[in-house]
Amino acid sequence: MTPELYLDANATSPVLPAALAAAVETMEARFGNPSSSHATGLRAKRILDDTRALARRVLGAGAGRVLFTSGATEGIQTAVLSALCAVRARRAAGEATGDLLLYGATEHKAVSESLAHWNTLLGTGLVLQALPVDADGRHRLDVLRALAPRAAMVCTMAANNESGAISDLDGIAAVLQDAAPRAYWMVDCVQALGKLALGLAGTRIDYAPFSGHKLYAPKGIGMLYVREGAPYTPLMIGGGQEAGLRSGTENMAGIAALGAVLAALEGGHTFRTHDELAAMRERLAAALRDAFPGIVFNAPFAHALPTTLNFAVPDMASKDLLDLFDAAGMRVSAGSACSAAKAAPSYVLAAMGLPAWRSSGAVRLSFGPLADDAFIDAACARIRRCGEALRATALEAPGPAAGVLQLSHEGRHGWIVFDGAARQAVVIDPPAALATRTAALLRARALDVVAVLGTDDGADGARARGLLRAALGLEAREPGVFGWPQGGAEVVLEDGSRVPALAIGADVLARAGTACLLGSAAGGVLRAAAVRLAFVGVDGAAGDNVHPGTLLCRAQDAGGVPFGAASGAVAGAPGQLRPEALAPFLDSGEEAVLVDVREVEETAVCTAALPGRAPGLVRRIPMSRLAEHAAGLLADPRPLVFVCRSGNRSARAALCLHRMGHPRALTVVGGLALAGDR
Ligand code: PLP
Repeated sequence: MTPELYLDANATSPVLPAALAAAVETMEARFGNPSSSHATGLRAKRILDDTRALARRVLGAGAGRVLFTSGATEGIQTAVLSALCAVRARRAAGEATGDLLLYGATEHKAVSESLAHWNTLLGTGLVLQALPVDADGRHRLDVLRALAPRAAMVCTMAANNESGAISDLDGIAAVLQDAAPRAYWMVDCVQALGKLALGLAGTRIDYAPFSGHKLYAPKGIGMLYVREGAPYTPLMIGGGQEAGLRSGTENMAGIAALGAVLAALEGGHTFRTHDELAAMRERLAAALRDAFPGIVFNAPFAHALPTTLNFAVPDMASKDLLDLFDAAGMRVSAGSACSAAKAAPSYVLAAMGLPAWRSSGAVRLSFGPLADDAFIDAACARIRRCGEALRATALEAPGPAAGVLQLSHEGRHGWIVFDGAARQAVVIDPPAALATRTAALLRARALDVVAVLGTDDGADGARARGLLRAALGLEAREPGVFGWPQGGAEVVLEDGSRVPALAIGADVLARAGTACLLGSAAGGVLRAAAVRLAFVGVDGAAGDNVHPGTLLCRAQDAGGVPFGAASGAVAGAPGQLRPEALAPFLDSGEEAVLVDVREVEETAVCTAALPGRAPGLVRRIPMSRLAEHAAGLLADPRPLVFVCRSGNRSARAALCLHRMGHPRALTVVGGLALAGDR
C-alpha cells in the first residue's frame, strides 16, 4: 500500500522523533515527581526548569510568566478567567472597565465558548461582541477602533487554523494602545508557533496560549504566556505546582517532548524557513490549479501561513473532494478538526463574507514546517492524479451507458435517468442545493436534458427545478405540470389510464399521478410487471401501476434510506462486521460478495487495495448508482458485504438492501480505512 500523505497539520501533527525519544526517556529513566526533594525528583525538576527556560527564550517571554498547561484550551480558560476576575475586582473598586468582550469572528470556538462560559459563571454580565473580519480574514481595524473604548477584554488570534489568515497584530496593538489601554488582550498563538516570529515581551499582549500537538509535540501539553504584571487567577488549585499558578503533577513526558521541539526551534536547523515553506505552497497550489481548473483559494497567500491552503472547487462538494483525496491516500480536512463531524459550512469562511459555495465546499490542506521536497513532490503527484481521475470519469459515464444516477444532499434525493448512447437525460426531483453541480455534471457528460420533472407540487420542488433549469440555460417557464412536456407521447398503464410518457433509451418514463414510472413498454403499454423504478417524491405512494419488486425512489429519506421495494420494508438493522473480522469472514469459505460502493473517481486514485477476491465475488457499484443495481443484488442470495472508505456509505447501502429484504446484507464498521489498519 502506498504510504499515506498527512496534510492535516493544523488539526494535529505527528511527533518529532526527538520529542518521542525525550518522552520515552523521561518515562523510563527520569520518571520522578519534580516536586520531590530526592535525587530522582531533582532530575525530573531539571527537565522542567530547562524546558521552561527554553520556552521563555523561544517565546521571547522576557519577565513574563510561562506555565505548562494541558493544551491551548486550558490556556484560553485560564486567560479568560484571569481577565474576567480582574475586571470584576476593578468594578467592585468602582473603576470603569468597559462592557464588551470583543473576540475575532474567526476565533477558535475555545475562545468564544470560554468567554460565554466564564462571563455567565462569574456573573460579570459583559456583552460578547464578535469583531468582524474582512474578505482576507483579517480583523476590521476600523470596527475595532470604534468598539475598543468599550472593551474590557479583546481576543484576536495570531493566525487562523482554517484559512491560515495571519492577523495584523501590530495594527491591533496600535488601536488598543490608543483606544483601549486598559483592556486585557489575549492572542491565541496556537498556529503561530514555529511559523511566525514571536518576541512576546516586546508586545502589549497579556495572554498567549500555545498547544504542543500542533507542532510535533504530543497531545495533552501546552503553554501559557502571561505578561509581567497582567492579572492572574489559577484555574486549578491544589498542590501548588507551577509556582501556584497551575496545580497538579506536571505532565513530564509531554514537557520533555515539548522541550525537544523547542530546542529544535531554537537550534534553527530542523524546521524549514518561511521562504522555503512559501515555495512549497506555490508548488502545491500549482498542482491544485492543474488538477481542478477554476479552483479558488479562500485566503490570499500574501497574508496567510505558508503551510495552509484553503480552497474550493466550483461544482464540487467538500465531502466529495475529501473522499477523493482520502482514496488517494492524502489526509486533508474540510475545516477545523473540532467541527469535522458537523456538516455545517465553515463559520470562519462565512465570517469572511465568502459565498456559500466557497464555505460549504472548502477543503483545507495544511502541512508542517518539517515537510521536505520529496513529501511535497509526492503530494503534488497525487493531487494531479485526483484531477485526472475526475476528468476521466466526468467525460465517460461509469458502468453501462444507460442508467440512473442518484443526487443526494442532506437527506434529499434527486435522480438522473440517462442514456449515454443517445446523450439524453431526464432529471427528477433535483435537490435545490445541487443545482449548479448537477448542471455541471450533465454538461461534463454531454447529456442533453429532455425534461426536468417533479413529483411533488410543493413550492420547494418547483423552486429547485427552476434553479436547475436556470443553471442549464433552459427557459424559466416549465413546459407543463411538474415539468412534463405537453402534447407529447403517451402510454397506457396497468390500470388502463393513458398518461404522458418520455422515451429514454430503450425505456419509457411515464407520469402516474405525481409519480414517474420507469420501465420498458410494449405496444404502447407499460405493464406493472415491467416497471423497474418508481420515483415517488416525498410521500412515497406509487399506486397500482407497479409490482411488489418495483423499487420506489424517494425525494427524501424514509427510515434512513432513499429507496425501497414497493412490497414494503423489513424492520431492524443490517449485520455489521468489525474491521478486523472482514478478512476472516471473506476467507471463511462462504461465497460472500464484496460490494465496493465508493465512487468511480475514488477507486481510480485508490492507493489501498481491496481484500483479494475472485473476480466474480467483487462488485463495484458506486453509491450513486445503487438504485439501478438494487434489484439484482436483492436477487443474489449470497452474503453481501458492503465496503466504502469510512463505513458511512456502506452502512446506508447495507441498510437499503436489508430493508428490501436481503437476508445477509452486511457493512464493515470503520470501512476500508480501518479494515486495512494493523
Ligand atoms: N486555538 C486554535 C487556533 C486551534 O487551532 C486549536 C486546536 O484545535 C485550539 C485553540 C485548541 O487547542 P488544544 O487542542 O490544545 O486545546
